[in-house]
Amino acid sequence: MNKKIRVLIAKPGLDGHDRGALVIAQALRDAGMEVIYTGLRQSPKQIVRAALQEDVDAIGLSCLSGAHNVLFPEVLRLLKEEKAEDIIVFGGGVIPYHDAVALEEKGIKKIFTPGTSTKAVAAFVEQAVYENLGLKKELLQPPTGVDHIGIAVHSIEQAMTFYGDHLHLKAEATVEVPSEGVRVAFVPVGNTKLELLEPLNEESPVAAFLKKRGEGIHHVAFSTGSLEERLEQLKKEGIPVITDKPKTGAGGYPIAFLHPKASNGVLVELCDPKQKEEGVKS
Ligand code: ZN
Repeated sequence: MNKKIRVLIAKPGLDGHDRGALVIAQALRDAGMEVIYTGLRQSPKQIVRAALQEDVDAIGLSCLSGAHNVLFPEVLRLLKEEKAEDIIVFGGGVIPYHDAVALEEKGIKKIFTPGTSTKAVAAFVEQAVYENLGLKKELLQPPTGVDHIGIAVHSIEQAMTFYGDHLHLKAEATVEVPSEGVRVAFVPVGNTKLELLEPLNEESPVAAFLKKRGEGIHHVAFSTGSLEERLEQLKKEGIPVITDKPKTGAGGYPIAFLHPKASNGVLVELCDPKQKEEGVKS
């Protein structure tokens, strides 16, 4: 999931200065967010209507007129009335410290002072929206690499005549994984590796694969962190999985398979090689 955060920047009240609001809008855009600016002198009703129409994750209110104690809570009240109180509201402008504290107690997520750096505002908004959606920011990071490419073969020894004799690659020690019905040999290549998979018996999923499709690429394994949470997140996003909970793979670290119908016919493995347990045979 590639979530683009949507923010409405609004100017409630009667003051005619929107330089600060425009600076924040630009900073949020620079941070990769989609920003809608309402323009000057909007009523709380207009602001909430725009927020609902634009389906935003957050509303930034800027007020220099001194009416923040009335206008900001009114935006919160209207959001609640529309059952949209999950939209984060933050604010800024000329707001005395004690007013800021009181507004935050009423449910404004944060009041920024004119001295706050725009980068800090963007980071805060991003973090608040992710938390609100129950997402950890790291779960939105792409995989850090291809850990290995799984190749189904009838015989590892026979396959190594090509990879060993002609490509001059070296296989690591062969591991048997009886629970999966396979023998496995990892063959390091640069910063990734091949995983040669040979069936141990007819019941092995790799045996079924060979029968159906013949020898060839069986799966692609991406390295990611937070595997368990990532798997839960993918399930929430409607991605069908083969492995319901991460399990320890042949390499001694947690792995999980997604269903190939989610990924154009490619069996995708996610794995977390950083979680390699000490002392696990490999
Ligand atoms: Zn694998």
